[in-house]
Amino acid sequence: MSDRGCGECTLCCKLMGVPELKKPSAKWCASCDQGKGCTIYDERPQSCRNFQCFWLMDENFPEEFRPDRIHALAAFNDTPDSCVLHVDPAKPRAISSPEVNALTDALLKSYKRVFVMCGKESAMLQA
Ligand code: SF4
Ligand code: SF4
Repeated sequence: MSDRGCGECTLCCKLMGVPELKKPSAKWCASCDQGKGCTIYDERPQSCRNFQCFWLMDENFPEEFRPDRIHALAAFNDTPDSCVLHVDPAKPRAISSPEVNALTDALLKSYKRVFVMCGKESAMLQA
């Protein structure tokens, strides 16, 4: 458990798809006040209620790795031996930043495979 809060981060409201809203991944949700929060918070869909990125869940991830700061977020995948690193396609160079490289290395210590998604681009990294 973590006592963290999202603060000014709203990056999952861009990078994650929301089936209930037919919101595609990598596009801002129309209900997001960017950098502030959800404008329909009390009525937000269940998938939004359920979602937490790894940074929010685990205080072992450094504070400076908050997703809006590194332009990337890590989250569970459908299979327990892999996870997904979603990179903001507006900041493609973030893929090779020291912070994202360090995050990827940390993820590969816990997961056999890390799927990296950046807009229409994707790659699979293996431990
Ligand atoms: S990406 Fe993580 S820290 Fe940022 S708003 Fe979503 S859950 Fe919160
Ligand atoms: S409904 Fe709210 S929490 Fe869900 S993606 Fe849109 S802005 Fe984010």
